[in-house]
Amino acid sequence: MPKILILSIINIAILYILLNSYFKKRRHLRIQIQDLQEKINILNTENSAEGKNKSSLEEKIRRYKSLKNIVEELDRELDAEFVSESLVRITYSQIAKGKGTATLYLIDSRTQHLSLVKSKKEDDGLVIKAKEGDIFDMWVLRHAGPLLIEDIKKDFRFDLGKIEKQHVRPVSSMISAPLLTDHRLLGVLRLDNSYPGVYSQDDLRFLTAICDLGAVALENSQLFQRTKDLAIHDELTRLYTRGYFRDRLTEECRRGLRQDNVFSLLMLDIDFFKDYNDKFGHTSGDIVLKSLSGAITGSLKDYSPIVSRFGGEEFCVILPSRDKKGAYRIAENLRKKIENSKIILRKQETHVTVSTGLASFPEDSTDADELIRKADKAMYQAKSQGRNRVCCI
Ligand code: GH3
Ligand code: MG
Ligand code: MG
Repeated sequence: MPKILILSIINIAILYILLNSYFKKRRHLRIQIQDLQEKINILNTENSAEGKNKSSLEEKIRRYKSLKNIVEELDRELDAEFVSESLVRITYSQIAKGKGTATLYLIDSRTQHLSLVKSKKEDDGLVIKAKEGDIFDMWVLRHAGPLLIEDIKKDFRFDLGKIEKQHVRPVSSMISAPLLTDHRLLGVLRLDNSYPGVYSQDDLRFLTAICDLGAVALENSQLFQRTKDLAIHDELTRLYTRGYFRDRLTEECRRGLRQDNVFSLLMLDIDFFKDYNDKFGHTSGDIVLKSLSGAITGSLKDYSPIVSRFGGEEFCVILPSRDKKGAYRIAENLRKKIENSKIILRKQETHVTVSTGLASFPEDSTDADELIRKADKAMYQAKSQGRNRVCCI
């Protein structure tokens, strides 16, 4: 065999071996690269989870730090209106980030129903029709506990058919918490959005913490308001007390001088009330005082009056923007109404009449005490002229 052929065969064999080893190494490298890529992917996923964890931890720290500021803000004023406004503003900006809707419902102490007191909305045109709350607010109230809905369509606790029937506004997710103190349930604070999955468990926890603080602040402000109300309202008739009325009259005189306004003052005294008490008893007399107070405020309600129980069976009324002539007509109508009102006591039909004195600002005086004196004098004139009438000075 020629030498050259042998060399060629050897070269080809070496080339084959080299190529074979190269391809083997390449395959091996590819597998290694794939392994590495997988490891990188796993690390990336772990990294992003850690990043998320880190930012969620940071958010938690930021939120709990802000609780101190929230306490300070809620404690700043003992005014229920201020506390309600703060609660809605804080939750809407710090949890909802200014998106969707925030609503605050408080329990009306008179009706014991929820009543919408404050709201904040991303969409200005959105009307909150449920002024007494909807099925979700009722749920929170009934369970006295927090509620998180990620997607209303997938939440078995609520009947979709009922929601549609009640025309609940477009809501897909929400968090809601009760305002609850040791003693009572005060209301419900809720954040909702037309998109699903907007709120997390952390959001709900933060909302609940704010509601706990808000409930204490609201209860304090309501107690303060009630104490203030008791101080300026007469216990039996719920009309303003003499002291508060006297301050309001002074204020009206000042405003009258400043703004060139007119107003009138009525002083009403029940006729022969001592005899009424003697005949029917003091308790019946109290019922008459209450019913007469209702009749006065009811029949004067269109005139924005300031009505007070000025003494035992005496009432004083400020009629804003009414001169003597206009006030006389109103007082005369009121007198007739009282004269014709039946008061049923122990199945017996009874009546009372009133004598009324009238003085006007600025015609009779621009001074509060002088106006009271003049209205009182006019009232005594009505008494001396036979009672059940209206007199002016
Ligand atoms: P007139 O004003 O027409 O001159 O006669 P009168 O009998 O109403 O007058 P007087 O001012 O002498 O009596 C007022 C009575 O009002 C005395 C008291 O028995 C009664 N009175 C005052 N405060 C109350 C009250 O809180 N409850 C009841 N039931 N009666 C009261
Ligand atoms: Mg009297
Ligand atoms: Mg009297």
